[in-house]
Amino acid sequence: MNRSTKIVATLGPSSNDVATLERLLQAGVNMVRLNFSHGTAQDHLDRAALVREIAKKMNRPIAIMVDLQGPKIRVGKFEKNKIELKNGAKFVLDAECTLGNQNTVGLDYKELPNDVEPGVILLLDDGKVKLQVDRVEGQKVFTTVLVGGTLSNNKGINRQGGGLTAPALTGKDMEDIKVAAKLHADYVAVSFPKSSADMYMARTLLKAAGSKALLIAKIERTEAIANLDDILTATDGIMVARGDLAVEVGDAAVPALQKRMIKAARRLNKLTITATQMMESMISSPVPTRAEVSDVANAVLDGTDAVMLSAETASGQYPVETVESMARVCVEAEKSQDYAVCNAALLEGEYSRIDQTISMAALFASNHLNVKVIAALTQSGSSALWMSRVISGVPIYALTPEAETYNRLALFRDVEPVMLSHDNTDRESLLVRAEVEMLKRGIVQPGDMIAFTFGDVVGMGGGTNCLKIVKAGETKVR
Ligand code: PGA
Ligand code: MN
Repeated sequence: MNRSTKIVATLGPSSNDVATLERLLQAGVNMVRLNFSHGTAQDHLDRAALVREIAKKMNRPIAIMVDLQGPKIRVGKFEKNKIELKNGAKFVLDAECTLGNQNTVGLDYKELPNDVEPGVILLLDDGKVKLQVDRVEGQKVFTTVLVGGTLSNNKGINRQGGGLTAPALTGKDMEDIKVAAKLHADYVAVSFPKSSADMYMARTLLKAAGSKALLIAKIERTEAIANLDDILTATDGIMVARGDLAVEVGDAAVPALQKRMIKAARRLNKLTITATQMMESMISSPVPTRAEVSDVANAVLDGTDAVMLSAETASGQYPVETVESMARVCVEAEKSQDYAVCNAALLEGEYSRIDQTISMAALFASNHLNVKVIAALTQSGSSALWMSRVISGVPIYALTPEAETYNRLALFRDVEPVMLSHDNTDRESLLVRAEVEMLKRGIVQPGDMIAFTFGDVVGMGGGTNCLKIVKAGETKVR
């Protein structure tokens, strides 16, 4: 494993064919994101099947994330597809308008007129166009253009400072959750959650659909920042969704929030994905800007599990080159990670669970001995999760018999999933088999130290209660 930070690539027209998908995986993609704001359910089912097939052929773990559209508020379509808005002009957002023109446009979110009052600032197309509400009459919101520009079909609307009442899960999302279950999504991302209630609802619907996917809360609303701790209790991970977040809270507030969010999530044993515009210029350029390189490196140093690509891989001209660049930047940034600071967390933590305490003991021992790798024999992946919440500089190999765990763990920083059957075998011979496998794959050389964590009773999820340190190739089979 020569890269610890994971890469998420959004699929789209630029990355739908087999050859590009193979190259993307080869270049280092660990999770693909299916953006349910675009395309049909069948498109996504086909894409997911193709990704699984390719990963299997390449003998690689791959996680699949379904990203629900959520209540993204959008303007409708225009007669001529777009208009030009001038500063000071009057413009009406009308929930009843079907086809827009120079003076008015429709809304997909019919509640908007109830959610705004005079003085409210509305930001369109990621803040490129700015409107101020003058008055509301029935279904019509009358505004004055503060900052004009081009406005084209279906662009997003945000209310500055938050305060929209839309629930996080729309009717479409509820249907899409069934599709996520059908395509065996490893992760499902909830867009615009405001509190833990939105996450509980998503979890209930997922369970009812028969899915055990892990949940990612996209933090992109002003309210979600205030409720961060509450949301963290109800999710498996968060996405620092910088696109909408920047529009809601102001772009300058986002870098500090990113650091705070990643830290808070790690402390509560949650996963993190840093997203949006990470390599934006590579949509049309074969090399990143200095600022982008710096941004990716800083997300790595903040401790993110994964960095995400959106249009870069979905509709850009250089999807493979973008992943290659991102991988290169991650590897270099990881070299400068201050492990001493991260390891301090080991001593501060309070551990009440046996599996968690053994996991921390493995990290502690690895730090004091020259342990080459940690090998966690795991069913559910929970021991790998505990360990990967401390950035220790020691790679964690998660040896699992479960295909679901194998793919899901592809997103965890510092964790490399390996398939290893645990069936019909006693504990000692399983450990020997694991050791032989790691020698065979070149993960360790003879004489390298391996710290194994495992359960007394093989095959019990959450049952990790043993730590055993061996020198590879020296184990005596009794
Ligand atoms: P989106 O989410 O791309 O689905 O809008 C990410 C973000 O807002 O940053
Ligand atoms: Mn968003």
